[in-house]
Amino acid sequence: MQIPDPALVVLVGASGSGKSTWAARHHRDVEVVSSDALRAVVGSGPSDLDASDDAFRLLDQIVEGRVRRGLTVVVDTLGLDPERRAGWAELARQHGFATVAVVLDTPAAVCRARNSARDRPVPAPVLGAQLQRMREVRAELDAEGWDVRAVATDAPEPVTSTTPAAEPAPGSGPRVLLQVSRFPWDDDPLAWLRDVARAADEAGFAGLALMDHLIQIPQVGRAWDPIPEPWVTLGALAALGTDLELGTLCTPATFRSPGIIAKAAATLDVLTGGRAFCGLGAGWWGREHAAYALDFPPTAQRLDDLEVAAETVRALWAPGTKAYAGDRVDLPETTCYPRPAGPLPLVIGGGGEQRTLRIAARWGDACNVQGDLETVRRKTAVLRKHCDDVGRPHDEVAVTVLDIAVVGDDRDDAWTRVERLRGRAKAADFAARHHAGDVVAHRERHDRLLEEGVGTIFLALPDLGGADDVERIAGLARR
Ligand code: GDP
Ligand code: MG
Repeated sequence: MQIPDPALVVLVGASGSGKSTWAARHHRDVEVVSSDALRAVVGSGPSDLDASDDAFRLLDQIVEGRVRRGLTVVVDTLGLDPERRAGWAELARQHGFATVAVVLDTPAAVCRARNSARDRPVPAPVLGAQLQRMREVRAELDAEGWDVRAVATDAPEPVTSTTPAAEPAPGSGPRVLLQVSRFPWDDDPLAWLRDVARAADEAGFAGLALMDHLIQIPQVGRAWDPIPEPWVTLGALAALGTDLELGTLCTPATFRSPGIIAKAAATLDVLTGGRAFCGLGAGWWGREHAAYALDFPPTAQRLDDLEVAAETVRALWAPGTKAYAGDRVDLPETTCYPRPAGPLPLVIGGGGEQRTLRIAARWGDACNVQGDLETVRRKTAVLRKHCDDVGRPHDEVAVTVLDIAVVGDDRDDAWTRVERLRGRAKAADFAARHHAGDVVAHRERHDRLLEEGVGTIFLALPDLGGADDVERIAGLARR
């Protein structure tokens, strides 16, 4: 059983059963609230029983504060008091938390031996009573409605206090392309780009996608941060001789005439030997249009324009030069040389269910959406309906996901990054939206996306600094 996040985790076990060790292994220090530690804060030490009342008052307050903020909390007490458990569980359920009881099923003899090895052992009859209670507690927990996870800690292997960085198991998974949206190059932009691209190629990322904006968007950085023109930049990346697929995610149809988009993408495709793709979206940010003297019509019109752009690039990428007369587009000829070197994937960006997904079904090779598993599932179903309507096989239009992920070296590092990046967002919300976790956790999540039929993920790091970060997350690349 995976421990959900956030969760209220209550440890249940006799003294010496390994509760504190388990907590330190699986959770961040700040997530664990321990009655022993609080006895030492308000009293003379961890076994100062006179300080118990004060310690538990503090403990309850800490549990309440964390749960209210949506933050995981691990309660490290004996866990044998049903009234205390009921109080914590009630609070957790009010806040939509998963409630998990971790039962330390360590053999009594092991607990006794560990207890007597301690500086201040629990008196033998007290430990005996705890072990007696352990026989009843499993049934109580089942009746109280906890998700129960049992662990025994009589394992002979030495215990370390942190989880060793698990090497991700090799194996198949979704293709992962790096989406680059921030460009913190110092004085050598080309060197920065080259290093990032080479690191991505070496790590085994399938490709590199560039955001297409005229001003850096507030979700990513500040307006005066550099945001290069992507087709020019992709041209430079094409010269590196990597195996990376290269394209935009996404080019707004409002920025350039559709024919010019078709021309740029076809050119990139021949320069890369057929490794280009073209993301196309409706555009959404008024400010950059105003600043660059571009029209920014209302949404319905922009979606019409997106559909025109999609149909136009399709017409210009098709073989031959004959006239084109289609749904919304009429061209006297389709003379576009160089032709793309191969099929040039058109990725329609956005999950708008009425129009955008329909445009993707009609003209796209893929539609790119954002969101959790449930969202992906729903969008996939809607896309398939549109495919049925327009008469295209489901497998001709892929669902890809833009995954903006906080990837830490371990869970603690991931949360440090959350704290640095979250701005005014609630830490728990930010962490959930960006799936804050280590490489292994993200791989598992990507595997679940693959199970939903997502074969391609565009992965963006909100704190991408340069090539080092690409190397750091190499475990997420699977080519
Ligand atoms: P608690 O009283 O339930 O919090 O127990 P602790 O976590 O303090 O563990 C008691 C002792 O058992 C410590 O010396 C730990 O190092 C040891 N211990 C805990 N878990 C394990 C385990 O999984 N394997 C082994 N070999 N020793 C463990
Ligand atoms: Mg302990």
